[in-house]
Amino acid sequence: MRIVLLGPPGAGKGTQAVLLSERLGVPQISTGDIFRANVGQGTELGVLAKKYMDAGDLVPDEVTVAMVEGRLEESDAAAGYLLDGFPRTVAQAEGLDAMLATAGKPLDGVLEIQVPSEELIRRISGRRNSDTVARADDDPDTVRRRLEVYTEQTAPLVEFYAARGILRPIDGIGEVDEVTVRALSALGASA
Ligand code: AMP
Repeated sequence: MRIVLLGPPGAGKGTQAVLLSERLGVPQISTGDIFRANVGQGTELGVLAKKYMDAGDLVPDEVTVAMVEGRLEESDAAAGYLLDGFPRTVAQAEGLDAMLATAGKPLDGVLEIQVPSEELIRRISGRRNSDTVARADDDPDTVRRRLEVYTEQTAPLVEFYAARGILRPIDGIGEVDEVTVRALSALGASA
């Protein structure tokens, strides 16, 4: 299965991606995780990405698309994958389309996790106050910027994929396990 996970920061994409990846038996590919690993290792890509991440902005499309293209060529992605946090712009979605068309392997579905903005802010400030999962880009100004970026640059992908008939929206409010059940059912996989 080739699946994209779409949803605003704080919607629970990362949490669901891990659980769904286990259930579906395909790797979770998170561009945010790959960027953070590069930042941690101080690679050239990490140094570049950090400037954007710290501001809550998106890393440029060419850099991100090239990174994903490399990742999708790895052997574990041959049987499918869950993309978590990519694409985030229409240009990235078109880049992904081009790669998949070349490979003759179209997406099976785009899971949109819907959560209202008041709930997102509440969740992210909770994440900031918890030692275990706090992230450098969870400070209030950066969170505000990340939500703005989502609305301006990523939300248009909802229409983009709806127009192709592959958008699968689910309600992201509730217990983690409940949301996983909804996700599996929206993707046509049994819970
Ligand atoms: P995430 O962990 O998905 O919330 O991503 C954290 C940060 O990494 C984002 O705020 C961006 O700065 C960067 N990032 C992650 N995925 C992408 C992407 N697809 N395009 C551009 N920047 C990204």
